[in-house]
Formats: sequence, structure tokens, C-alpha cells
Amino acid sequence: MTQQSGYGDAHLCTAEFPGDDLHAGQLCDLEVGHEGDHVAVVGLAAAFRRRLTWTAEETTS
Ligand SMILES: [Zn+2]
Repeated sequence: MTQQSGYGDAHLCTAEFPGDDLHAGQLCDLEVGHEGDHVAVVGLAAAFRRRLTWTAEETTS
């Protein structure tokens, strides 16, 4: 289920990192509807990248 062709954010998860540090509001990098924790990789260079993970909250909509 990997999509290597094309690059767009139309199908990305829109969850925001709930932390209150400098990365608050960082959007999840995974596909919409993914299971498990949300993940976002932040950082300008590989040496400084951080992998943020946060637990998905149950949302009723
Ligand atoms: Zn997510």
C-alpha cells in the first residue's frame, strides 16, 4: 500500500502534534486513516531530525 509516485498531501493525516513545545501544531506525516500513533519527522537537516509520535485521540465527528 505504498505510494511512491506523485507527491501531495491530499491524503495525509491532518492530526496536529498536541505538545506545547516548539513543535506544537506539526502535522502528522502518515496517511489519513492510519492505525497507531501519529508520526511526524521534523528538522531541517538529517542530523537534527526528530521523530515525533503521539497517541491518536478518539474523535467523534
Ligand atoms: Zn496521524
